Amino acid sequence: MTEVVLATGNLHKAKEIKAILNGLNLRFLTLQDFPNLPETIEDGKTFKENAVKKAKEIARLTGKIALADDSGIEVEALNNAPGVYSARFAGEKAADSANNKKLIGLLKGIPLSKRKARFVCVIAIAEPAGRNYTVEGELKGVIALRPAGKKGFGYDPLLIVPRYKKTVAQLSSEVKNRISHRAKALRKAKGILKQL
Ligand code: IMP
Repeated sequence: MTEVVLATGNLHKAKEIKAILNGLNLRFLTLQDFPNLPETIEDGKTFKENAVKKAKEIARLTGKIALADDSGIEVEALNNAPGVYSARFAGEKAADSANNKKLIGLLKGIPLSKRKARFVCVIAIAEPAGRNYTVEGELKGVIALRPAGKKGFGYDPLLIVPRYKKTVAQLSSEVKNRISHRAKALRKAKGILKQL
């Protein structure tokens, strides 16, 4: 059976990825199966650059097909910041709450009509022989005036999804996993994996 390395050490993410990619005749491994690999430095200017770099490195080092993702939030009024800096917006290893506080602060006084934002996820699949593929998913919304909801992680308490009139942190994980940027990108990735 063909093996695919999920280039994440985050077990929560790996579980979500495996659930969406179920039904494929593939065996999934994670970085936990390769404890001695060096960590990829995410120094790209785009989600795509980071995801491709990670997938290519892992495919080269393991000799197996690798799947990597990079994701974050883009806010229109901030020229699409924080983008690739989403995890470290308020500083290296910043807590989600600090990142959220910084974002809310920067948007102070801006009305809801001008607070458009989107979660973005780019997934790269790399073959050890060198070919690679990328797909993207997005979840559009509006940055709330203040955080709401306790579920999820990251910027979930800040992104209101207009269709539900709720922040992502107020949605059940079932709904989030159906409509999220990551789920959408993964469904596209499934189409590619089927053909490898
Ligand atoms: P990474 O793809 O794990 O590097 O995630 C980058 C950062 O983007 C995370 O630390 C979060 O701040 C943010 N992010 C990515 N996906 C989500 C999501 O589904 N909800 C909320 N924040 C997210």
